[in-house]
Amino acid sequence: MEKDILRFLDYVKIDTQSDDTSFTVPSTAKQLNLSRKLQEDLKELGIESELDEFGVVYAKLPGVEGLDPIGLNAHVDTALECSDFDVKPKIIENYDGGVIELGHGYKMSPAEFPSLGEHIGDTLITTSGDTLLGADDKAGLAIIMAVLDYFVSHPNIPHHPICILFTPDEEIGRGPDHFDPKKFGAKYAYTVDGGIYDSVACETFNAAHADVTLHGISIHPGEAKGKMVNASDLAFAFDHALPAEKRPQFTSGYEGFNHLVSMVSGVDEAKMHYIIRNHDRAKLEEQKEEFHKAREEVLRQYPGVTIDLALGDDYHNMKEIIDGCPECVRKIDKAYATLGIKPRYEPIRGGTDGAGFSFQGVPTPNLPTGSYNHHGRFEYLSVREFKIIKNLIIEILKAE
Ligand SMILES: [Zn+2]
Repeated sequence: MEKDILRFLDYVKIDTQSDDTSFTVPSTAKQLNLSRKLQEDLKELGIESELDEFGVVYAKLPGVEGLDPIGLNAHVDTALECSDFDVKPKIIENYDGGVIELGHGYKMSPAEFPSLGEHIGDTLITTSGDTLLGADDKAGLAIIMAVLDYFVSHPNIPHHPICILFTPDEEIGRGPDHFDPKKFGAKYAYTVDGGIYDSVACETFNAAHADVTLHGISIHPGEAKGKMVNASDLAFAFDHALPAEKRPQFTSGYEGFNHLVSMVSGVDEAKMHYIIRNHDRAKLEEQKEEFHKAREEVLRQYPGVTIDLALGDDYHNMKEIIDGCPECVRKIDKAYATLGIKPRYEPIRGGTDGAGFSFQGVPTPNLPTGSYNHHGRFEYLSVREFKIIKNLIIEILKAE
C-alpha cells in the first residue's frame, strides 16, 4: 500500500467521535490524538504547525510569492450515529462487483448500494461491520496530506502558498466556532469533505429554527367537559396548520422544508422544536411567515389559549459569498477539465464548515473525497476516486 493510503488507514484507527452533549472545547479530548498525529505527519514533511487552545491545527506550505494563498481544510471528528472505536478497515483489491462480507453479519451489495457498481476493478476500503469507517472526514485529511507530500517531494513544481486547517467538532456543527481567518491566512479555501469524485458544492441551506410553546388548560378529566384545552391538541393543530408538503420527506433538490425535530407535550403545556431550511433566503423568510400564520390559525380555533413562538436564524447559504469569488470556482472548473472530468455542482441539503468560513471572510466551496455511505457501518472509500481528488487539488494549487 502506498503512503497516501497508509496515512488514511492510520487516521481511521484513532477514535475521534465528537459529543454534542459536551461543553468542552473540543467536545472530546480524544480528537486531539489525531490532531497531534497530523502535526507529526506534517513535521515529517518539514511543515511546522500550531495546535491552538481550541484544538484547531494551522499550518502553511510556502509557495510562489505574489500568488493568492489558497486554503485546504478537513475535520478530525467522526459522526455520532455509529461508533468509531477500534475501526478495523478492510481492503478489497480489484473489487469484482459482488456482495461484500463486512463482518458481524453485515453484507453490502450493489443491489442495495448501487454506487458499488461503479467501482468494479477498484480498490475499496470498508468497515468490518461493527463501526463506521470515518472516511468522513479522514479521507479529506489524508488527501490534504497527500497533496502536501506531492508538492514537498516535487520542489520544481511552482504552486500557490498553501494554508492548512484541521478542525474538531464539525459533526456537531461547531467546526467554525473558533476559526481564526487571520491565522489561517487563505484568500479562499476548499473544504475536502464530501462524496462522489465529481460532485462539488458551493451552496448550502439558509437555516432557521422555531420554538413553539403552547399553553393548554388542565383540569381533572372527569370534569373536563367544556373546560379542558389539551396542549397536545394545540400542538397537533399547529403542525397541521403548516404546509404538509414542506415536510422533509416530501422535498429534494432546491425544495426547502419545515421539520418538526422534537415535541414534548402534556395537557398543560406542549413544546415543539422545528428546523426551517431553504437555499433561497426570501423563501426561507416566507416559511418563517408560515409559522406566524399557523399560530394565528390555532388561536382562531382555540380562543383564549396562548402560544409563544420564537424564531431565530442559524446559518446562511454560502453561495452569497462564493458568488463574490469567481476565481475559486474557476480554479475548480479548470482543474477538473485538466483531468477530463465534468464536475456536477450540487447544492448541499444541509450545512458545512465551509459556510462558516465563508461568512468569516474566506470563501470556501466543498470538494469530494471519493467516499460513500457516511455516518454508518456501510461507509467505504474508493481508492481510485481518492487519487482523482488528490490530483484535482494538485491542479487547483499549481501556479498558472
Ligand atoms: Zn464530514
